[in-house]
Amino acid sequence: MIADAFESLGLHVLERGWLSSNNVVFGERPGSPAAIVDTGYVSHAEQTQALVAAVLPQGVRRIVNTHLHSDHCGGNAALQAAGAEEVWVPATLVDAVNRWDTAGALSFEATDQRCARFGATGGLDDSRSIVLGGATWQVHAAPGHDPDAVMLFEPVHGVLISGDALWQQRVAILFPELVAEPGIGPALQALQRIEALAPRIVIPGHGAPFTDVAEALAASRQRIALFAEQPIAHLRYALRALVVFNLLEHRSRPRAALLRWMTATPLLRELGRRLPAGISPEDFAAENLDRLLRDGTLVGCGDDIHAA
Ligand SMILES: [Zn+2]
Repeated sequence: MIADAFESLGLHVLERGWLSSNNVVFGERPGSPAAIVDTGYVSHAEQTQALVAAVLPQGVRRIVNTHLHSDHCGGNAALQAAGAEEVWVPATLVDAVNRWDTAGALSFEATDQRCARFGATGGLDDSRSIVLGGATWQVHAAPGHDPDAVMLFEPVHGVLISGDALWQQRVAILFPELVAEPGIGPALQALQRIEALAPRIVIPGHGAPFTDVAEALAASRQRIALFAEQPIAHLRYALRALVVFNLLEHRSRPRAALLRWMTATPLLRELGRRLPAGISPEDFAAENLDRLLRDGTLVGCGDDIHAA
């Protein structure tokens, strides 16, 4: 069922490992140029270009981003330089992109992640649509993980490109919660929106496409309910995910430098302010680092720490 739907929609999913998001590539069809949805992390840009070229030797002319986290738009600049004329991003961030406001609306400085500068040519917002591979894809707001995020839905085949609003087994960090803004309520609304759309196939931002959508929705709701009940569980989850991402990028860091990074990175400094009274950011960082070493996610090598 998945292969037939993808063929009929002219799309290929390039399933990527961290640090990159998946890339959904669309062949050229009458009325719609070759396109890509989400472009991976900047340090993988060359690999992204090679993978795309293997599917589309003529390259892509239209880029679409579900949201502007570094692992979803890091290949934009390289693809734009290689000839992509159109770059569609969530409408609320078009100006921020074109001013390259990395200390404000764009998250790269807050997370200490990187992204090569690109330009945006158009904005996507709720209830609009965009033609990809000759089919009309509806744009749906998908706040929660990121307040500006959108999803793309093709109703004839029932295919949803969910970005990081729905994964099969896990839930993405609810970033607004780290800066005392609502993430849990909007994330649940996005899940409700997905349920109402009733997709038959979901292409997530990370992991393989899947069809057991009801199961994924239930698992996400359960996890988000836990985060609502125990906010510290979400803070722990977010800190761990951001540390692992940083170590995958930097390979290896001395323990002291990593601990400093865990409390000094702007977003993690904010996270530290959300801790319950009596837990210091330094203790929280050390406790979480030790837990990651104990469970084998990270490995210590002398004074250095790297991802397993
Ligand atoms: Zn992502």
